[in-house]
Amino acid sequence: MKNIIYNFSAGPAMLPKEVLVNVKKDFLNWDNIGTSVIEISHRSQEFSKIIKNTENDLRELLSVPKNYIILFCSGGARGQFSAIPMNFQNSFNITDYVDSGYWSNSAMLEAKKYCTVNHIPVKNNYNGIIKVLPMEKWKLSNESSYVHYCPNETIEGIAIHEEPFFEKKTIIGDFSSSLLSRKININRYSFIYASAQKNLGPSGITVIIMKKNMLQSSQPFTPSILNYKTIFMHQSMFNTPVTFSWYVMSLVLKWMKKKGGVDYFEKNNQKKSKLLYQKIDNSEFYINRIHKKNRSWMNVIFNLYDEKLNEKFLTEAHKYGLKFLKGHKIIGGFRASIYNAMPMSGVKKLIKFMSNFEKKFG
Ligand SMILES: *Cc1c(COP(=O)(O)O)cnc(C)c1O
Repeated sequence: MKNIIYNFSAGPAMLPKEVLVNVKKDFLNWDNIGTSVIEISHRSQEFSKIIKNTENDLRELLSVPKNYIILFCSGGARGQFSAIPMNFQNSFNITDYVDSGYWSNSAMLEAKKYCTVNHIPVKNNYNGIIKVLPMEKWKLSNESSYVHYCPNETIEGIAIHEEPFFEKKTIIGDFSSSLLSRKININRYSFIYASAQKNLGPSGITVIIMKKNMLQSSQPFTPSILNYKTIFMHQSMFNTPVTFSWYVMSLVLKWMKKKGGVDYFEKNNQKKSKLLYQKIDNSEFYINRIHKKNRSWMNVIFNLYDEKLNEKFLTEAHKYGLKFLKGHKIIGGFRASIYNAMPMSGVKKLIKFMSNFEKKFG
């Protein structure tokens, strides 16, 4: 029997097989125009179909209200780390940065170059168990121009599942590793961004969903390429966009709709992560030290009690067809990234491998 390979990479991450097969099939002659999709103008009529479909599909999948605009940018999520404090008018006053892990902390460090930051650490360690302070206890400042947080910390596998409810606050969320993984209430946010390479497509393109009335004047020194008003006025084509990533993302969104939309993925993601955490919790060989309320559905972190077996685990997993399970270098251990494209069969295969490995070495 053919050994099916599963790719647990955190990002760029696996894409739906169906999408890759289509890309391959259409690569030399896209949409019967006789050329590849990557060798035509982003302003051509042909390409503008992709742009329109991408925006419409995102609106449909996430029920984006009419008073929100969608932008497509270059520069990844890190580009947004810089753009956000430059664009939002009061940014020379105070901004709130909620710190729950590596990515939210990195966003904060970048913002410090441009504004005064109220640092709100929310990740606590209670007797070895990591837990995020509930939102009602976050110490926001009264004058902040916005509150920035990250609902899914990709490296630590920490999630904030509750949605913000703060009145009269401008909420900004880094959804790079969680957009489209579950339903969200867009109205609770003023600005959402996500770089594509986790859950939406290949790297290179970043999606922004923002309230239209957020398009105000940015700081005068803001580079044009990071200026949301400029990007909006040029229909996200102020510079030449990453057309290939845009195209592949449009196919991923189509695939999502065919599968049953965000509802389907939400249920599936919850099921997949639940099974994997159960496996970890029911064993005395594997451990996850994150409180149940804050465990990510997308990035499942685990360690071996006996860390001497780490290398062995990785080589055996690799042989078994389970790739890229190594945890991020700043925290070690293992990480199974199980975004939308990871089927249940991949998670089951991982669980089976973990049981076998435990029997052999436990
Ligand atoms: C991957 C990731 C980033 C960084 O994305 P880039 O596109 O490489 O800048 C930022 N935030 C989160 C939550 C991520 O998962």
